[in-house]
Amino acid sequence: MKKEMICISCPMGCRITAEWENDNDIKVTGNKCPRGIVYGREEILSPRRVVTATIDINSSSLGRIPVMTTGTVPKGIIDSLLNRIYKMHLETPIARDDIIMKNIDDTGIDLIATRTVTT
Ligand code: SF4
Repeated sequence: MKKEMICISCPMGCRITAEWENDNDIKVTGNKCPRGIVYGREEILSPRRVVTATIDINSSSLGRIPVMTTGTVPKGIIDSLLNRIYKMHLETPIARDDIIMKNIDDTGIDLIATRTVTT
């Protein structure tokens, strides 16, 4: 099998190709660094993404606060995670890097605020 994709591990955005006969023998080409090989293999075996979103807050200056995961999470849990995020409401003050959701679905990844909102 063969799959073409863009490596999103850095802003270079290399166009890479993964070719494989089985899960143990995935060959990646087109990458300009080793991270592209890791990304290409992961995309075939278990695709993951960083999640960014916003959460409703009781602020007089801002309606929602931006949040993001501290790393990638499996694509399979993203719909459920976003559903939970968009139902949340937070009270200020909230500081940048505050943990909003710890160890999301036992992934070891947290959801953190990416902005400070005091009022
Ligand atoms: S292969 Fe390396 S250089 Fe190319 S986008 Fe991925 S991380 Fe960046």
